[in-house]
Amino acid sequence: MSESIVSKLKGLRGMNDLLPDQSSKWQYVEATFKHILARYGYSEIRTPVLEDTTLFQRSIGEATDVVEKEMYTFDDRNGESVTLRPEFTAGVVRSVIEHGLAFNQTQRLWTTGPVFRYERPQKGRYRQFHQLSVEIFNLAGPDIDVELILLSARLLRELGLSDQVTLELNSLGTPEARAEYRSLLVDYLTEHKHELDEDSQRRLTTNPLRILDSKNPDMADMLAGAPRLIDHLDDESRAHFDYLKDRLTALGIPFRINTRLVRGLDYYSRTVFEWTTTALGSQGTVCGGGRYDGMVEQLGGKHVPAIGFGLGIERLVLLLETLDLFPDTIGNTVDVYLTAVGTRAEQMALPLAEQLRDQLPSLRLQLHCGGGSFKSQIKKADRSGARIALLLGEEESANATVGIKFLREERDQEQVSQAQLGERLAVLFESAQ
Ligand code: ATP
Ligand code: MG
Repeated sequence: MSESIVSKLKGLRGMNDLLPDQSSKWQYVEATFKHILARYGYSEIRTPVLEDTTLFQRSIGEATDVVEKEMYTFDDRNGESVTLRPEFTAGVVRSVIEHGLAFNQTQRLWTTGPVFRYERPQKGRYRQFHQLSVEIFNLAGPDIDVELILLSARLLRELGLSDQVTLELNSLGTPEARAEYRSLLVDYLTEHKHELDEDSQRRLTTNPLRILDSKNPDMADMLAGAPRLIDHLDDESRAHFDYLKDRLTALGIPFRINTRLVRGLDYYSRTVFEWTTTALGSQGTVCGGGRYDGMVEQLGGKHVPAIGFGLGIERLVLLLETLDLFPDTIGNTVDVYLTAVGTRAEQMALPLAEQLRDQLPSLRLQLHCGGGSFKSQIKKADRSGARIALLLGEEESANATVGIKFLREERDQEQVSQAQLGERLAVLFESAQ
């Protein structure tokens, strides 16, 4: 007889399964986001995971890390080049143009889901990861920049992170001001060419501004002496930035000006910002965003100013775990565990469970399946995290009662009629309903 060897299948490197103990944490984080976004009057948009490759090349920029080496690009069966989205903004802009969403109107949008980048996987850096992305269209003034930053501050604050994150701010000016500055910077960097690392030598011709946010410590001193974009802003960008700083100060949102913050993607203009933490090593940026006033036009739409941010959910969850900031109740999915011993009790348990689910829609009730003794069923009830085990045995089914056993409190067992069980549970879970 030939032996077949079946090799074990594994998930792809850098792409994680989200197991039940983790998914409850994600649900908590996502519910917090959604609640806050609703309180600011933002609407959800969902766009496809796969887009035409050209979309990302034209919006993110050819000379960026993402487009140069991080995209999952392949030909579909028809020979068209398609790409798994490496970020949300490009797809949202495409959709906004295609459906005329920014035509004579403003939009405040959010979206969330997986994005894909072919990077070297490590803690806080994966190949499939998830973002919350917020994008606003057709508002040019700095007041919306303030609102967006306030919103991001609230997301972090309501998760308990205010003391753990720093807001870094910069302005990139207009494309014209940036072009002028770029030649000053290239002059300076060319003078110091021998001090540039290999990556930066290459960027000197392709994307010199990106050299500024190099993390190479050997270049730190040299870069500190480089001319600063913030000293070469056009007047309007300067006024825009001053307004933003004044409002944030007045609103009590602390920030740090980081003149070397340029962000990884090409499309930004004026305001750029990041929320960073020192608690996650070199993967310290939790959220980053900025204004991208030229992008809609660049992708074939009218001139529509826009601003947004992307927040990395894995990093946020890691941060909350590292700082032990998840509430204790997370992961507990059951309030009541209904046991049943004996054929009659088992038959009674199903309609009883359904009756309770009708009566108490927010009660989380799990019904024991698979038989076994009371002892083994109570063990499972305990492991489920439930506060209460309901006991349904021969005696209870004969006289239509149920035992209420408290699993987490020093409290006597109660015996109630099945007809009154719903009411009794409502009282016991009053504060939770
Ligand atoms: P980094 O400098 O860490 O590579 P980035 O500038 O490439 O970040 P953005 O394109 O601004 O990141 O994406 C927004 C957010 O998404 C980041 O602030 C970060 O929290 C998260 N993020 C980016 N890349 C990854 C990744 N590979 N794995 C997990 N999260 C990521
Ligand atoms: Mg990156």
